[in-house]
Amino acid sequence: MAIGQSNVSEVPETEADNLDVLTSTQAIIREALERLGYDAAMYELLKEPLRVLTVRFPVRMDDGSVQVFTGYRAQHNDAVGPTKGGIRLHPDVTEDEIRALSIWMSIKCGIANLPYGGGKGGIVCDPRTMSFDEIERLSRAYVRAISQIVGPSKDIPAPDVFSNSQNMAWMLDEYSHIREFDSPGFITGKPIVLGGSKGRETATARGVTICLEEALRVKNIPIKGARVIIQGFGNAGSYLAKFMYESGAKVVGISDAYGALYDSNGLNIPELLEQRDSFGTVTKLFDNTLTNKELLEQPCDILVPAAIENQITRENAAKIQAQVIVEAANGPTTTAATKILTDRGVLIVPDVLGNSGGVIVSYFEWVQNNQGFYWTEEEVDERLVTLMKRSFQTVYDAAEKYGVDMRLAAYMVGVRRMAESVRWRGWV
Ligand code: GLU
Repeated sequence: MAIGQSNVSEVPETEADNLDVLTSTQAIIREALERLGYDAAMYELLKEPLRVLTVRFPVRMDDGSVQVFTGYRAQHNDAVGPTKGGIRLHPDVTEDEIRALSIWMSIKCGIANLPYGGGKGGIVCDPRTMSFDEIERLSRAYVRAISQIVGPSKDIPAPDVFSNSQNMAWMLDEYSHIREFDSPGFITGKPIVLGGSKGRETATARGVTICLEEALRVKNIPIKGARVIIQGFGNAGSYLAKFMYESGAKVVGISDAYGALYDSNGLNIPELLEQRDSFGTVTKLFDNTLTNKELLEQPCDILVPAAIENQITRENAAKIQAQVIVEAANGPTTTAATKILTDRGVLIVPDVLGNSGGVIVSYFEWVQNNQGFYWTEEEVDERLVTLMKRSFQTVYDAAEKYGVDMRLAAYMVGVRRMAESVRWRGWV
């Protein structure tokens, strides 16, 4: 079976789409391990995180009241090295989602060959409705609650949905107080002055761009004039829109949590970037917006989901018009939708590859913190380009070699180093 054909066994019309990210992740981990020849015990170990800490902590709100928040930190597996992954601040955060996301981080690190296992954290909250001071107290309280299990050689957090370099700065400061020494390598995605890396802010979008260029090369589509739809205008989506606009592509559609804009002649991206707020909201300023759902079905050559999970499902997969999909968000396409699209010849660059630029530059940041010697923006970019291109090629080659789609190939490449480390350590 060649690339462009799905390995996923027939998905009967009647079968519900699997929107549960944990069970769908476990299914693909099982398949990847089986195809690599690992036994059931390896799957038993890797199907869940080794550790998940649930914390509840009080935060004083500006009006004097106290609100109790729930947070999680999951550590998938530390056979390769310390665990690594972001912290998301979102009202829809659940424990299962954080478990699944920690597994995805392991796969991302495995594909890029970083010396980490996967980790992930989350706080159930809506920072869009909180003040600056409340978010500071929340960030600090969360770090106090999880401080026992994290650290520069244990588990290294980073930004994720609705968290940014300011949250990282507060968390670093809180952690350094607790430990009584400055430990910049405790967290990545920091402001540059606190030991952040050049290029980290734009890294996810830069990585998506590199994957996109590779995918277009394979598909023989010139980037100049290619029509791009980007769902989501947060860190990844907005920088990507900028990069696409600058490279001569036509960004015909963008969206935020509240709506979408589409113009077949191309949107004025510099103007939209000027108008967006820090949570990536911009469509509220316009009348006649589309819904996110409508946006995905509009004419385009390239579609980049850069928002949240389960956006491309069995329901809308047949209506997607793009030839290339690069997943900048985590988990935007369901298994059933992956099959429908792959069978139609759409090239899907899966999240664990497409958005790995973020964790790759986080790794560079941690390396720079550990050595106390900092790189130029050009050095960071050069290393990122080399790593991303190699990752893309490795996954693409594995897809051809094993006759599977890019998602399963990515999982096979990504899980291998972890399984081998587990074996060498004698755990299974
Ligand atoms: N949150 C990002 C991700 O999902 C970045 C993680 C990191 O930099 O450690 O990949």
